[in-house]
Amino acid sequence: MAVGKNRDVIIVGSGNSGSLAALATQEVGARVLILEKAPKERRGGNTHFTGGSYRFAYKPDEVRGIIPDLSESELNSMEFEGLSQDQFYGHIMRITEGRANPEMVELLVKESQPTIKWMTAQGAQWEFRPEDAAALKHGKIHVGSGVQWLRAKNRGEGLSKNLFSILEKRGIPVLYGTKVVKLLQDRRGRVCGVTVKNEEGFEDIEGKAVILACGSFEANREMRLKYLGAEWETMPIRGTRYNTGDGLRMALEIGAQTAGHWAGCHAAQVDVGAPEFPEMTRTDDTTRSGYQMGIIVNVHGKRFVDEGEDWRPFTYTKFAHEIMRQPQRMAFQVIDSKMVDHLSGRYNKGIQVKADTIEELAQKLEIDVDSLVQTVKEFNAGVQTGTWDLTTKDGKRAVGISPPKSNWAIEIDRPPFYAFPTKAALTYTFGGLKTNRKCQVLDNEDNVVPGLYAAGERVGFWHFRYMGGSGLMLGAVTGKIAGAQAGAE
Ligand SMILES: Cc1cc2nc3c(=O)[nH]c(=O)nc-3n(C[C@H](O)[C@H](O)[C@H](O)COP(=O)(O)OP(=O)(O)OC[C@H]3O[C@@H](n4cnc5c(N)ncnc54)[C@H](O)[C@@H]3O)c2cc1C
Repeated sequence: MAVGKNRDVIIVGSGNSGSLAALATQEVGARVLILEKAPKERRGGNTHFTGGSYRFAYKPDEVRGIIPDLSESELNSMEFEGLSQDQFYGHIMRITEGRANPEMVELLVKESQPTIKWMTAQGAQWEFRPEDAAALKHGKIHVGSGVQWLRAKNRGEGLSKNLFSILEKRGIPVLYGTKVVKLLQDRRGRVCGVTVKNEEGFEDIEGKAVILACGSFEANREMRLKYLGAEWETMPIRGTRYNTGDGLRMALEIGAQTAGHWAGCHAAQVDVGAPEFPEMTRTDDTTRSGYQMGIIVNVHGKRFVDEGEDWRPFTYTKFAHEIMRQPQRMAFQVIDSKMVDHLSGRYNKGIQVKADTIEELAQKLEIDVDSLVQTVKEFNAGVQTGTWDLTTKDGKRAVGISPPKSNWAIEIDRPPFYAFPTKAALTYTFGGLKTNRKCQVLDNEDNVVPGLYAAGERVGFWHFRYMGGSGLMLGAVTGKIAGAQAGAE
């Protein structure tokens, strides 16, 4: 454990936010140590399981500067709408119903693109992400403003591998199997280290500042029950089993202030066969977010959401919460053969049911046959004429039904018909710590807790809903800032 002594900055957690915080700390000349609870073979936190996509503000003519590796022909094959800082800010405020802290939202929005460029300079590797995010228009891949299009090469697995390899190259030590259990304070209240528990027992490690980058409490049943409610206690989890709210508990013990929506969480529809915790080799494969291509029904064969209410990244969390309110907490995405090719390749890796008629589909699903037939019939009758266009909110509606489908409505009429059974699974929880723009943790009187920083999911940010691609971006922005600030101390 000698490596752990006399470090300037201690980082708790080695996901996206912790790893980037470490790089930023080292950049300002401070000595940094990462403490990671998971064993090496299970490292990477939720970051390992992600789709790897980052959402950030940009203008169309900035794309080349953001990904210098894009070839001329790749660039010419795309058209970008751009996402202005105002739009990005507005989207977050809209989905959080105005509850997000404007100061932190502004920070995320303004620092998003510079942070992506900084990550590139650190060695981050990217790929353009056309699948289920963009579609062809005027012969080009059209990327609307609601779409996140940049993802880490080889998704979360690739991102995680790449970050660990950069840490290794820079000589930044990571101690695995080392659970931080307590924050140490000096007599003036300054955080001056941590107590860890590892194979050998308990040990104190000193540091001049501590950054909590140790995720939220989604993998802690007791906290789920306490903060989210009874129905969330036995939920399947989409990410790591190690995010059990330790950072929150430790920070609250020394008087930190909460922020974000403690009764709120991010959830998504997954294949109904998804296990309680995903395998390390099967990351976000089970995600089922292609419902724009058809309808979602419950076990009674009834629709219960407006599948075309908004861009998919703005609705998928909301719909997973709706599924929690349905009988048996499950649903079925029903899609016909003309739309099935629009689904992401992930759909081939789980349970799917195929039939030549809607009756037969309902029988195979063992759900109410007459009701599903009626639902599809009424839906088809309600579909309005217009051009179906996934690249924009096309206003092609299905009306006269409740709920309506506000965009992307197209008749379910070409056999064979497909159904994909889904359930909701928990991604992460929104309850976090209040921070200022320097990512310093604040106490209940809004004073800085000296020496304590938070980054990533640990920062309390989201309320009610979440917007795809913003978790990694928030982690990168707050990790970079926390690392540089703590290092400068
Ligand atoms: C399936 C899935 C797909 C997702 N896809 C995307 C996406 O495409 N884009 C996006 O923006 N977001 C996505 N997210 C959300 C995203 O995972 C997070 O916002 C981001 O990865 C969180 O990074 P983090 O560094 O805050 O936490 P994590 O990556 O979870 O890292 C936290 C680390 O802290 C460690 N730790 C916990 N407690 C302790 C302790 N006591 N001591 C020491 N270490 C501890 C954990 O073991 C873990 O390694 C997805 C999440 C999931 C689960």
